Amino acid sequence: MTTDEGYIKYVSHWTRGPATHTVAARELDTWRKPLYEAGLIGQYKDLGIGYGNISVRRGSGDLFLISGTQTGHLPATDERHYSLVTDCDIRSNIVRCSGPVQASSEAMTHAAIYALGGAIGAVVHVHSEELWQRNLGKLPTTDPDVAYGTPDMARELDRLYRMEGFKDAGVAVLAGHEEGLISIGGTLEQAAQRVLRIHENY
Ligand SMILES: [Zn+2]
Repeated sequence: MTTDEGYIKYVSHWTRGPATHTVAARELDTWRKPLYEAGLIGQYKDLGIGYGNISVRRGSGDLFLISGTQTGHLPATDERHYSLVTDCDIRSNIVRCSGPVQASSEAMTHAAIYALGGAIGAVVHVHSEELWQRNLGKLPTTDPDVAYGTPDMARELDRLYRMEGFKDAGVAVLAGHEEGLISIGGTLEQAAQRVLRIHENY
């Protein structure tokens, strides 16, 4: 069981505002749905803490729309449940976001992944004890001493992407974040399908 889920480790500047990017939010929900139904996004009921998050790049810069903090328990989402990350400074550990809800506590890691290259259009972070156990060390795997959601994790993902096959495999195991996996793709469909395919094979 994770203990660090749901805690925002960076300094967050949230500008509350109306929902934007309605069409992108619908697309996010479309691909969130099978992930939620598979239990890869959801809530630890005993702890009341949501897990898993999903995002999509917007435009040609590093802007992205991501599920809001503590939305994991929702069976269905819409534009009210997504936040636009407008700026992210990994070194100073600052994330700026705007929208009806604050960005997921794991927005920093999503930002670090988008910064790896323009080919990455979507990021999915899921939790599964089974997938995590089975793929630890088999898929590209982060250093177990690096905690998720920290600037160190950004550097570690960069290493995996460039040197450990994360770029081609598209899915990585987060050894320092129990039950956590991350999937990337050129599109939301690709990012979601990559992890769903692994899930369906068990
Ligand atoms: Zn997580």
